[in-house]
Amino acid sequence: MEKGKIVKALSGFYYVEVPNKGIYQCRGRGLFRKQKITPLVGDRVEIDITDNGDGYVTKIYERNNELVRPPVSNIDQAIIVTSAAKPDFNALLLDRFLVLIEAKRIEPVIVLTKMDLVSSEAERQMEAVQKIYENIGYSVVRLSSKDKNQVQQLVPYIEGKTSVIAGQSGVGKSSLLNALKPGLDLEIGDISETLGRGKHTTRHVEFISMNDGYVADTPGFSSLDFREIVAEELPECFPEMVDRQDGCKFRGCKHFKEPKCAVKDAVQTGDIPEFRYNHYLQFLEEIQSRKPRY
Ligand code: GDP
Ligand code: ZN
Repeated sequence: MEKGKIVKALSGFYYVEVPNKGIYQCRGRGLFRKQKITPLVGDRVEIDITDNGDGYVTKIYERNNELVRPPVSNIDQAIIVTSAAKPDFNALLLDRFLVLIEAKRIEPVIVLTKMDLVSSEAERQMEAVQKIYENIGYSVVRLSSKDKNQVQQLVPYIEGKTSVIAGQSGVGKSSLLNALKPGLDLEIGDISETLGRGKHTTRHVEFISMNDGYVADTPGFSSLDFREIVAEELPECFPEMVDRQDGCKFRGCKHFKEPKCAVKDAVQTGDIPEFRYNHYLQFLEEIQSRKPRY
């Protein structure tokens, strides 16, 4: 028996990386069909290796988390890529990604790309953006993927971790991964959206090994709706609200119409950025106005 991690799934095979030994092509066992568990890329597993060098997955360890699209498990962090230009920086979209990631209890890291394309004024704006999100408690890196040295700033964040990369199309996700791993050669460019499924047309998910860690080759959080989030948990997805909501008069305060609300007070004093609170209200409205699910 060996212990390893599934790093790729393709055509019914699971490719399990065993530390210091290599990658074994494995089949799942009937066991999983009975247990209704499908192995996922990212699963920590036990395998039995047969005489011909193939293997069988015999056990899946409990998952810390799992995503549906792409189907991966045990994700440590999500790297949200957002560009300073082309497309323009979009705080609403950034906050939307942050909420989706927080709701999955995955650690976000924010990367502002294409810094080489901005004027010095826009550069100062991006510095201000960086400060705001850092004050909330997030890690933020500003860089240009055209500059290998700048890209190295990200290495300490990915070292030894399993990451997914998230962000709107065209912000530079593939370019960033290519810059991090010479020879990777993911397809870049804008051909994607018009063709429907985008440039990531492969039907398998694979982990790219990078700096003793892994990055999923398919962007995560491509579905940006809040279907899986209920109104009560939305404040939990805003760390600056979590820090203050003990001061609200009402337990379960939604920081909307309730009186004596510490969150609204903090917005008044500027301790919580107004735009973040406005995004919160917008998301709350979106969640509360949706039709009940059946
Ligand atoms: P993705 O859709 O998020 O994977 O974005 P791509 O990596 O395919 O990049 C989209 C376009 O932006 C391509 O034309 C890239 O060459 C360009 N691009 C990506 N990152 C940078 C950057 O840091 N600076 C500049 N100037 N262009 C970039
Ligand atoms: Zn409140």
